Amino acid sequence: MEKLYEGKAKALYATDQANEILVVYSNQATALNGKKKSQIAGKGALNNEITSLIFAYLNEKGIPTQFIRQVDEVSQVVKALKMVPVEVVVRNRLAGSLAKKFDQAEGSPLKHPTVEYYYKNDELNDPFVNASQLSALGILELETSDELEAFALKINQALIELFDAIDLDLIDMKFEFGWDSEGQLILGDEISPDTCRIWDKASQQKMDKDNFRHDLGDIIPVYQEVAQRLRSYLTK
Ligand code: UDP
Repeated sequence: MEKLYEGKAKALYATDQANEILVVYSNQATALNGKKKSQIAGKGALNNEITSLIFAYLNEKGIPTQFIRQVDEVSQVVKALKMVPVEVVVRNRLAGSLAKKFDQAEGSPLKHPTVEYYYKNDELNDPFVNASQLSALGILELETSDELEAFALKINQALIELFDAIDLDLIDMKFEFGWDSEGQLILGDEISPDTCRIWDKASQQKMDKDNFRHDLGDIIPVYQEVAQRLRSYLTK
């Protein structure tokens, strides 16, 4: 199979269908924009399963995603997309870079969800940008930013409900979007504990990649717990 792209945690391959690609999840974990790196056995399979379950749930709810089907433990077939060059971060509570920016405690409530854009560019370290800058630099039209914001808030709402049903609080998350062959804007990439902050409702224990980022503990047992809760809620 022809390899199309190799990212930090996934590799993409061409298939015999023009508009479909195979995504293979790896065991590599990175943080600090790739400066911290480890191989963690089992991580690829867990994120592949978690993303497959969540994207199938969103597809069923009428939220269009790139996901077509899970193929095996570590791979899934997805629609080929032309990617939007920004990462979209939605937050429900303060954590991570926003908690640091305002020097406030992690977990503090926000009056309403926030939507942020980060321009995808490794050399520039994915800088924070706003819709006006994206428009003025010819990167993204204002209407597209508006569309992304509304779409991201809608997905956030669907995910809050999903995680609530399995006793997890959704603190924040990162989305990536793209245009399919018909020019429709749809959700792409992955949604997993690598790309969301999710805390156990009762204990407020972190069930996500912050355990790796800040050396708080092994990620495999917590990712397994997330997968198990999703599996029993969504496949019953
Ligand atoms: N995030 C991500 N990839 C990135 C940056 C952030 O998936 O390259 C996710 C991260 O897991 C968290 C949310 O986006 O759920 C907000 O991240 P934040 O801006 O707080 O950055 P951090 O402090 O995690 O670097």
